[in-house]
This record gives sequence, structure tokens and C-alpha cells, in this order.
Amino acid sequence: MSFSTHLPSRRGDSRHVAIVGGGIVGIACAHYLNLQGHRVTVIDKGRVGGGCSHGNCGYVSPSHALPLAEPGAIFSTIKAMLKPNPPLRIRPGLNVPLWKWLWNFSRRCNRSDWVQSGHAIHPLLTASMQLYSELIPSYELDCEWTKQGLLFVYKDAKALQAYAPIDALLRRDFDEPARLMSARELLEFEPALSDDVAGAWYFEHDAHLRPARLVASWRDSLLARGVVFIENQTLESVTESAGEAQSLKLSSQCIEADQFVIATGAWTPQLEKVLRFRVPIQPGKGYSMTMPRPAVCPQTPMILPERKVAVTPWETELRLGSMMEFIGYDSDISKKRLRLLTRAAADYLKSELPDSISETWCGWRPMTYDSTPIIGRCPSFSNVYLACGHNMLGLSMAPATGRMISELIAGEPTSLAAEPYQVERFTA
Ligand SMILES: Cc1cc2nc3c(=O)[nH]c(=O)nc-3n(C[C@H](O)[C@H](O)[C@H](O)COP(=O)(O)OP(=O)(O)OC[C@H]3O[C@@H](n4cnc5c(N)ncnc54)[C@H](O)[C@@H]3O)c2cc1C
Repeated sequence: MSFSTHLPSRRGDSRHVAIVGGGIVGIACAHYLNLQGHRVTVIDKGRVGGGCSHGNCGYVSPSHALPLAEPGAIFSTIKAMLKPNPPLRIRPGLNVPLWKWLWNFSRRCNRSDWVQSGHAIHPLLTASMQLYSELIPSYELDCEWTKQGLLFVYKDAKALQAYAPIDALLRRDFDEPARLMSARELLEFEPALSDDVAGAWYFEHDAHLRPARLVASWRDSLLARGVVFIENQTLESVTESAGEAQSLKLSSQCIEADQFVIATGAWTPQLEKVLRFRVPIQPGKGYSMTMPRPAVCPQTPMILPERKVAVTPWETELRLGSMMEFIGYDSDISKKRLRLLTRAAADYLKSELPDSISETWCGWRPMTYDSTPIIGRCPSFSNVYLACGHNMLGLSMAPATGRMISELIAGEPTSLAAEPYQVERFTA
């Protein structure tokens, strides 16, 4: 990628905005800032789109309004962790920020906080769905965008029925109804499933896409519109004057700008010294594996809640994804962990999975303990904005995040209430 040192800053009315982090969130910020007429530079320490935005499951899911910290989550977590090779692993060791995070998370596992976080997340989800529906065709982003809905498939009839109160809550408080399908109805709808399924809940308004293709195609579209991308440059420090950031010192160059956006996902806490502020984000490691489509391939994306595995079909491939590990920035992809994915899919699908795997992958979700992203000004600087902490739903919340950042930088009223996302909520 081309780059130049000391890019000129303010020119007429348009300002130069430097975005650190070229994941889906940084890209979405670049899009809306570019639309406002700013000169935009996106900087990444590696490849643009090479972080968590690369190998995720590709769901754009307004139905996922209710977060992980649900009532009873502590008990069910402990129970799950006592089983061999559980999908959730926690290794806190002497990691004090992780202990604090876990403590704060545990305090939110009650109905009132659960629903409150849902009301913070849901507007970003529904607005992003609307924005994707407009911008993917408008900018001809090549990403297999498909509005096919999402199934929650169960084998156990009691577990299927146990979801009914959550459906009622999603229906009543969030207008996100799911349709209950009997086994017969489900097998007619999705013949790729094995005959012993009990049924499913179907969220027909969800969508899915190929995340790496979206990022690549969106980056190309932004490049053509004048956005500059700088790869393999790590943010190391910030120069400031009277509380205003002036320039970024990167691995081997400096960038001056008028406004700055930090969209560094799960790495954001590593910027504590640079930002003079520690965001309570923990890396939540997940895995995926991608393979050719099996002989009888599902048509509809599905979650297998009893096994905590997600299955995403695309035109030529199938992806399985799962796991949540709080074990620091460990990048090992163990075969044992991947077997959890293939065993689950093999138990639920009629066809055998192909032997040839095109990609195995792991990534770190940027997890906040209240499941809500951080979007707003960084307390230490008047012109640095944070867009991070999108948890398990960064793809699903990126467009509305980018739009909000562009509105905040312009000093305009925000389309969605900005208060639930401000970082000050952690210090209040
Ligand atoms: C298995 C799995 C499945 C998932 N499925 C879904 C799904 O179906 N739908 C959904 O909505 N979400 C899903 N997610 C979550 C989603 O992938 C994340 O929330 C999202 O990718 C976060 O995007 P981001 O741009 O904030 O972070 P990232 O994509 O990680 O981007 C951050 C970027 O910042 C760069 N960076 C970091 N530090 C620096 C620095 N100091 N200097 C310069 N650059 C830096 C990194 O290199 C990286 O490219 C899934 C996650 C996993 C792990």
C-alpha cells in the first residue's frame, strides 16, 4: 500500500481524519467520514481486514439483541466448564484486568442489566441492517449479501421449548419475533438437517454475508474514492498540545491529522499508555473453519445452541464457528478445539463434511463486560474518538457505528442516542 509521511492536514472545510484499525469498524468509519467530505487515512498494524473481521461467521443479526451476560450465566458457565473440551474457557492466572472484567461481567448477569444492554445494542443492530441494505447495492460491494434469516436448531424438545420466554421477550421489548418450527416443518424447510432434530426458532429478518469479501470490496470502493490505506504500521504514540492530539507516531512514520479514530478492536487495551486511558476490553478468542460445501448443504445459516456452534453456508463454501476463550492474546489454533466444530456439525447435518479444509482461523472478539460497544470521545483528548468493543457483533453493528463517529466528529446531532456507548459509563 502506498503512503506518505506527514500527510497535510486541514484543507478548506474538509479535515484530515486518521483512523487507526482497518477492521470492519474502521472501514465503516472511513466510509461515513469520506461521505462527509473529509480526507481519510486508515492505518493498520497488519493487513486491512486481517483481524477479527476476517474469519467471523458473517451474520448480520438484529435478532442477537440480548447479550451474553444473561441471568443464570454464571451457573451455566461453571457447569459447561466442568465438561471435557468445553466451548467456553477462562484462564485468568494473574491477569488483574481479566479478574476485574469477570467480576463486573458477573454483576451484570441479572434480568435488568441484561435487558438494559439489549436496549443499547439493538438500535445499532437495526440501524446497521438498514444501512447495509442500502450501501451494499449502492456501492456494489461484492460480499454474497443474502437475506435468508437465521435458524436456532435444537435436538432436545425441552431445550427448544425453553427458548420460548426469550422469544417472548425479544418479541415484546425488541420487536424481534422468531417463528417456532416443528421437526417436520424444519426438515421441509432445511432438508440438509439430520432427521432427529426437535425443531427450530427462525429469525426470518436476519442476513448473512462473506465478511472478508465485504472488507476487501469496501476497502477497494474507498480507495477509489480517495481514502488512503497504510498497512504494517503500528500506532506507538501520540503527540499532543493542550489536550489536542496533533500526530500519530507509527512504526516508521508520523501522520498529522485534525481528528483521530481508534478502531483497534480487541487490541485497544494495549494502547493504554498512548490513550492515557484503559478501556475494559478483553480478547474473547473464537475459532472458525471453512470448507467446500457438503453434498447436501444447508441453505440457511444456523446456530446449534446446544453445542454453541454456528454454521454459515455461502455460494461455494461452508463455515463453522464457535468458542469463547478468555486466555489472553493466545493465537494457537488447536486441532482438539476445531474438532468441537466438526463433531457438532456432523451431528446435525445429513451429509458428511468434506475432508479438505480451506481455512482454519482464530480471532479475538473485543469484549466489554456490558456487551455494549464504546463509541465516543476519548476522555484524554478533545479530538480522539473511540470506536471499539463490539463484542460478538462487530460486523452487525459496524455501519451505524461509522455513521455515529462521523456525526460526532461533525458536531452534528447523532441519528441514535450516543449516551449508552460513551466510555465514561465505566468510570461513573
Ligand atoms: C468465531 C467468531 C465469529 C463471529 N461471528 C460474527 C458474526 O457472525 N456477526 C458479527 O456481527 N460478529 C461476529 N463476530 C465478531 C466480529 O468479528 C467482531 O466484533 C468484529 O470483527 C470487530 O471488528 P473491529 O473492526 O472492531 O476489530 P478487528 O477486525 O479486529 O480490527 C481491528 C484492527 O486494528 C488493528 N490494530 C490493532 N492495534 C493496532 C495498532 N496499535 N496500530 C495499528 N493497527 C492496530 C488490527 O491489526 C486490526 O486489523 C465473530 C467473532 C468470532 C471470533
